[in-house]
Amino acid sequence: MASGIVGEFFELKAEASADLLAMQMGDFYEFFGEDAETVGEELDLKVSERSSGGEPYAMAGVPVDDLTPYVKALVERGYRVAIADQRDTDDGIVREVTRTVTPGTLIETDDAEAQYLASVVADGDEYGLAVCDITTGQFRATTISGEAATGLALNELDRFDPVEVLPGPSVRSDDDFLAALRADLDARLTLFETDVFAPGRARHTLETQFGDAVGTVGLSDPAVAAAGAAIAYIDETGVGALASITRLGSYTADEHVTLDLTTRRNLELTATMTGGGRTLFETVDHTATNAGSRLLKEWLTRPSRDVETLRTRGAAVEALVDDALVREGLTETLGESYDLERVAARAVSGSADADSLLRARDTLALVPELIDSIEGSPRLADSPVAAIFGGLDPSGIEDLRTELEALADDPPKTLHEGGLIKRGYDDDLDELVARLEAATEFFDTLEERERRRHGLSRVTVGRNKTDGYYVQIPKSESDSVPDEYEGIKTLKNAERYVFDELRERERELFRLEEERGEREYEAFRRLRESVAERADLLQAVGRALAELDVRCSLATHAAKRGWTRPTLTDERGLEIEAGRHPVVETDTQFVPNDLSLDPDRRFLLVTGPNMSGKSTYMRQAALITLLAQIGSFVPADSARVGLVDGIYTRVGALDELAEGRSTFMVEMEELSNILHSATDESLVVLDEVGRGTATYDGISIAWAATEYLHNEVGAFTLFATHYHELTTLAEKLPRVENVHVAATETDGDVTFLRTVEEGPTDRSYGVHVADLAGVPEPVVDRAGDVLDRLREERAIEAKGGGSGGPVQTVFDLGAGEFRTGGSEHSNAGTNDGSTASQDTDSIDPEIGDVLAELRSAELAETSPVELMNRVREWQRRLEEE
Ligand code: ADP
Repeated sequence: MASGIVGEFFELKAEASADLLAMQMGDFYEFFGEDAETVGEELDLKVSERSSGGEPYAMAGVPVDDLTPYVKALVERGYRVAIADQRDTDDGIVREVTRTVTPGTLIETDDAEAQYLASVVADGDEYGLAVCDITTGQFRATTISGEAATGLALNELDRFDPVEVLPGPSVRSDDDFLAALRADLDARLTLFETDVFAPGRARHTLETQFGDAVGTVGLSDPAVAAAGAAIAYIDETGVGALASITRLGSYTADEHVTLDLTTRRNLELTATMTGGGRTLFETVDHTATNAGSRLLKEWLTRPSRDVETLRTRGAAVEALVDDALVREGLTETLGESYDLERVAARAVSGSADADSLLRARDTLALVPELIDSIEGSPRLADSPVAAIFGGLDPSGIEDLRTELEALADDPPKTLHEGGLIKRGYDDDLDELVARLEAATEFFDTLEERERRRHGLSRVTVGRNKTDGYYVQIPKSESDSVPDEYEGIKTLKNAERYVFDELRERERELFRLEEERGEREYEAFRRLRESVAERADLLQAVGRALAELDVRCSLATHAAKRGWTRPTLTDERGLEIEAGRHPVVETDTQFVPNDLSLDPDRRFLLVTGPNMSGKSTYMRQAALITLLAQIGSFVPADSARVGLVDGIYTRVGALDELAEGRSTFMVEMEELSNILHSATDESLVVLDEVGRGTATYDGISIAWAATEYLHNEVGAFTLFATHYHELTTLAEKLPRVENVHVAATETDGDVTFLRTVEEGPTDRSYGVHVADLAGVPEPVVDRAGDVLDRLREERAIEAKGGGSGGPVQTVFDLGAGEFRTGGSEHSNAGTNDGSTASQDTDSIDPEIGDVLAELRSAELAETSPVELMNRVREWQRRLEEE
């Protein structure tokens, strides 16, 4: 049984809900037993042994001043670390756990990334979500409800990419939800006391934190539970950052463009699918600050649907594009700024050091400079850029900055030894320092004096922790040592001495030093508290700097790449002239392409040889829409973007294949999600559907999905397919059109033109791509022969053995057979040998159109008169046929 200090360690450890405990023992924090072995291994620390109760225990320690980086490293590896500090009391030294550091409550981080702690509560079909970044004081809550709530809640969590998640009581028993959390997120799941999620208690916690705001924000019960639990958790870990969380932000999902996890991955917004290449974020990021880069990332993953917000952002970006010189100046100034939101949070938690306050001071000094630059530019002064700093209180900023002027310009790392405060701010301190300098003077000149006084030519004066001040005389001069010297230490070639006056002066000096250290630390703490009290102001300034930074960054990229400001509208439609892919254009001689979608042309079937550029063309449309909806310029000569409520994509699922999940299953899950979630205001990009299964299945599913998207959902859709059969859909469905990426073939060589043209492609160029890819010549030749034969046979079969011009074979979904699209009334041979079908698909496009309108007519929402008019109109159109 361990006893004494080791015993105390294990007792504290048993009480702490943590993986590891660091316990203070004087100047060190120590770990014992398994904890010591773990940190020894993780941090490469030396592990020694200490025996207790007759047993040896592993022991590892880190100096008190160095604890932070070690704890940070442990927490980043996923450990929860409890810290027990020691206090001197009348009854001796007492140790207790003062803080538990977890991934979501690590305040000391310097990463550019946001560090979210999320809490999620389920109540039937309703989910409450709260996310908090304690390093900046950001706190938001939302409610997600409806049929697809589970998926949306997971999606929303994933969008924040939290480092730690607190699942509420009912979520904990939902194995599927937990499994999905584990699969999608790289976050620690912490099971916190269930009581704190109880509605009454959670509301009380929230009201204590935010006061009346809780009532006015109008959160649902699950959102209150999630938010209350998050606050309680932050409080319990003892990080002391609660006071920096001043605003309870609430939002609803419909403020943002829905981008599900798959879409964010497919569009490579912040991570690429393969790990190589560049993300959209990396491509457009020219921010000069960490806060700016965090905000840009947030915009990219949460585009807005508010046309006014976007127009204002766009106008600011445009002004910054126009005044390049001032913009460059602003960016340079921003580059000197420091992460104020983080300083605010650290000041509040009492962990801000002198250096960070100093940098906060210098950052505040930049604000008037930035405002002057903006006002000095007529173009910017007259734009929404001027409003960015408009809401701030300039005199408050100036007051805080002036107060921080008291900080020394080059403060030491330690807080207790003086040197933190400038002269001229505290008379008592100045006098103390003057006395200290006088006292030091004695020692500075001591060597010289003793040399002269006693003829000691090689005397030196030194100071160290154990001996204090001493004079040191080499053995060769020991004969000349005066009587008043008292030896304190013998070294190999020298002896150290002290004498009465030296002792007295030293006592005085140490006393003054200590007094100064304490006084300066006090002054520093007062400054830090002042900053903490104005955390609000710092957060607001920090936010404004980030807002300016992002706009400058977007303008810089727009100017560099010749992007244009899109026209944004609430009407449906996407018109792009000479559009480019924002990432591909940076390292390719890019061939621009147009795109046009409107309510009457809302579904494009994109065909073309493999590798011709179909997927690039479709992603480019999605990315241009997304960029427009963050307020950015876009890579095109001109663009008119009707705002969308969501962007949905499905593309070849490479990574799932690598994970051993059935690609076809994944593909169908993704398709199902799109068909459920997309609306007539969404943009859908489908890059091949149905490839993961046999041809008939594949075509059938692709066909049915197209009809459903066209007739029922009405989303703007770009659908690339290698099923040539589908191109006939354009004839059957009124709002479907074919486009293809052009390629030419000369002497068996295919040249990709990368231009998108109207109409379907004539065939696939697969064999030529195989050739380009270096497949051995005999194989390519043979494939060419086989292809020719197949085409011949198909043609013969399609024509029932007859002869004639070229025939196109299509798959007829209605009849479940292949038939020739060119000869309307032929009884084409079926593939399964059954009898020929009725010609159900020979309906004229106009009739098809009328049928589609009839099918989708909303009877409940149409007045009888209007309905009558429409029926009359349909009759008229049918008669014309
Ligand atoms: P597909 O989807 O038809 O197989 P991709 O879109 O993947 O083809 O494009 C194939 C290659 O062509 C990619 O390397 C891409 O960078 C390049 N590419 C695509 N479109 C263009 C374009 N408009 N201009 C220049 N290169 C392009």
